[in-house]
Amino acid sequence: MGNGSTDASICEECLLLGVDVIHAEQVRDYGILGPKPSDLCALLDQYVIGQDAAKRIIAVAVYNHRKRLQVKPEGATELDKSNILLIGPTGSGKTFIMQMLARSLLVPLAIADATSLTEAGYVGDDVENIIGKLFRQSDFNVEKTQQGIVYIDEIDKIARKTDNTRRDVGGEGVQQALLKLIEGTTVTLPNKSNVRNSRNIPEFVEIDTKNILFVCGGAFDGLDRVIHARTTRSSIGFGAELRGPASTSKEALFGLAEPEDLIQFGMIPEIVGRLPVIARCEESSVLGLVDILTKPKNSLLRQFRKLFDMDGAELDVSPEALLAIAEKAFARKLGARGLRSILEELFLDAQFELPSLPRGEKYKIVLTEDAVLSGHGAIIESVPVLKSVSAL
Ligand code: ADP
Repeated sequence: MGNGSTDASICEECLLLGVDVIHAEQVRDYGILGPKPSDLCALLDQYVIGQDAAKRIIAVAVYNHRKRLQVKPEGATELDKSNILLIGPTGSGKTFIMQMLARSLLVPLAIADATSLTEAGYVGDDVENIIGKLFRQSDFNVEKTQQGIVYIDEIDKIARKTDNTRRDVGGEGVQQALLKLIEGTTVTLPNKSNVRNSRNIPEFVEIDTKNILFVCGGAFDGLDRVIHARTTRSSIGFGAELRGPASTSKEALFGLAEPEDLIQFGMIPEIVGRLPVIARCEESSVLGLVDILTKPKNSLLRQFRKLFDMDGAELDVSPEALLAIAEKAFARKLGARGLRSILEELFLDAQFELPSLPRGEKYKIVLTEDAVLSGHGAIIESVPVLKSVSAL
């Protein structure tokens, strides 16, 4: 099942029972609406450092989404979908938040890139591909797929580019295709279910996308200039409101983003209208990057500690070395994404040599500030083994 061996088969009842058990446990722990927004934030806090405002907004949107799924269509007040637009620089944790969210909620997540989307699906990803990914993530369960989450990255790259003379319809066409998917459409997929021993399995399944939660992410480079132009425009001229931008810093300007700015940026109004929840991930500071290195449950430092531990060595990284790593990553402007490659470089030699050293000795992997700054990387030290008194 899942990503493992495909030889094993499982009967349909058992499969559904498995899904039901997980679902039942979640309902028992959290109730039918799933974790409350504060619980969800607490779950995210274990993995995602900072980004508190984004986490709160997303937690509320997801909770409302769960409520929406409980509302029966007949007669009752229908709730609109609370799809989310996640704005933030590269490496600020947009995708990571969605991955951890899906994991906490036990819902399937498909990640796609808007730049590989095409208007009619000639090349690259198309609508069927994205929903197909979600179907696979749901272990080919139609109901789970229909309530999953789709994260579409780099949405800003399909903004239509207009100057006054030429109109770029390419971006607009892709946005229209995406709009259809977000609004709700039926996608027909081959039924690749590995549920065997069951008769009457149809060859194709239909997936309705109307209850899928869509989250679109992007850096929106240049949106600050659009906001700056709007806020300064509205503060000059006859009868204008006497308000200028509170501050012209990029961060402050992004905080003032309104739907009209996104339209001006090149998003079609229909897409903007379908993404009513706007959340922002901030660029991590150097100290934030140190926290990202060390604090999450599966932090990079813990991961390397585990890797060395499996070769019988302890890891010793000084606080100054951590700071130097964070400063390097910050300078590379790749956000937290830069941390991993820096650590990989610094620990490469030690990871190469350690497994070949004589067994029976104890070793320590030491990373100092100098080793980070010079780029020499961590060194392996032999630790004297103290013989116990009884062994003497
Ligand atoms: P984005 O989608 O914003 O470009 P990602 O979510 O892919 O960035 O982040 C890249 C990696 O950096 C993640 O896989 C994660 O390991 C780490 N990361 C980024 N932001 C955070 C954060 N706030 N807390 C913990 N880890 C983070």
